[in-house]
Amino acid sequence: MATKKRSSTMARKIKVKKEVLGVIPSLKMGDSIVTIPRLIKKGRLGSIVVKHEDNKSPVRSRTMEEFEHFQIRSMKLLAGFTKVAEKDHWEIPAPEMKRKPRLKYRPSNGTVLNIRNLDFTIPLEDQMELEDVYFLHHAITYSKKMVMVIGAGVSVESGIPDFRSSGGLFQGFATKSNGSGKNLFDYNVFRSSDSILKFENMIQRLYTMSIKCEPSMFHHMIDQVSAQGRLLRLYTQNIDGLDVQLPHLKTKVPLTFKKPFPISVQLHGNVKLLSCSMCKYIVPIDESYFEKPPNVDGRRLIVRCPECQEMNNIREIAGKRLQSEGVLRPRIVLYNEFHPDGEVIGNITESDLRARPDCLIVTGTTLKIPGVRRLVKEMARVVHSNSGYVIWMNLDEPTQGIVDYVEYFDLIIVGNCQLIPGLVKLYDYVYKPEKKKPRKKATVTTVKSRKRQEHEV
Ligand SMILES: [Zn+2]
Repeated sequence: MATKKRSSTMARKIKVKKEVLGVIPSLKMGDSIVTIPRLIKKGRLGSIVVKHEDNKSPVRSRTMEEFEHFQIRSMKLLAGFTKVAEKDHWEIPAPEMKRKPRLKYRPSNGTVLNIRNLDFTIPLEDQMELEDVYFLHHAITYSKKMVMVIGAGVSVESGIPDFRSSGGLFQGFATKSNGSGKNLFDYNVFRSSDSILKFENMIQRLYTMSIKCEPSMFHHMIDQVSAQGRLLRLYTQNIDGLDVQLPHLKTKVPLTFKKPFPISVQLHGNVKLLSCSMCKYIVPIDESYFEKPPNVDGRRLIVRCPECQEMNNIREIAGKRLQSEGVLRPRIVLYNEFHPDGEVIGNITESDLRARPDCLIVTGTTLKIPGVRRLVKEMARVVHSNSGYVIWMNLDEPTQGIVDYVEYFDLIIVGNCQLIPGLVKLYDYVYKPEKKKPRKKATVTTVKSRKRQEHEV
């Protein structure tokens, strides 16, 4: 018989179905033993490991009332925290009701909710205004036609550097001869073979990062909203494709005028695709592109289009006049160039405006691109006229210029957007006001179920 090993750490395990790990400083061993069976009974917790960290602060004796309050609070916190700490962290609560509950509180225009120092192990009410979290929770959980506009900030956690921030892509590619790395994202890059090579190198780096990186929790949250049928559209400025690789955020390349439009719209293209400048042939990049020997110009990606060459071969055999051939290039939209899908995107936006979205969330972007800024302004106007929610999420507050342009944001969330799924989940689990339970209907045995019962007997 195997002997039971004693854990050297002061941990107490209660094993049920699934395992949830967490360090909860405000919780003492005794509390967890009192509270856990109730939670297990509700089917909300699997096994819990409450580790004891060396507690240097002296233990104060509590009055009975204080103790009860402490217990209730830590029980709720434990439940919420473990819920947040689960592997499927991004999984936001599914709205139980068909009708959107009435919004009971709306923050005054431009209210800032700071989550920079958010700590899930400390009660939320000690860190922020609960009403603002209520508003956020309401918007994310109950909106029926959400429009999301995202930028590089959403992919940073996945490992793709942001463009503009210090240490971002623009800085990383800056050299003395190039000036800012931003020049590499300019159409003028095609003017000299030297800059084309640099551009190719940058694409290779971006491509490799995009292949290695995984979608972030925030990406998953958007996917979840879409899976629940509540996402009207995702407009993404990111070219890494981390968003559109998720099952409920698919897109179409190229976009067409034919409805239904895909749920996701890539505003600036996709780094994983090449397209021909003449015949519009599109081909996905794979690793082999970077392994094959370069052509005479030293290029591997930006080469003559095989499709155009093929067409000319056929024309030659048929005795027809040869046509000029195109060049393959990454299918991303550069500065100072015409957007290949611009017109279709305009159509999709108009269709979305007519659909009367009830929520607009702008995340991880500073709205430096005029077209995207205009899109946000138009969406915000429609959402506000529909008594919806317009929310900004980014490391920093929007500039005054942006706020004036968009008129206003109902809520400005400052901090890491990756904490939002957990915050919404924690609020849902711990703070959401209890719904009044509907009176139980008397169970009626239907003919069908009776038949089934008879059959089972
Ligand atoms: Zn071609």
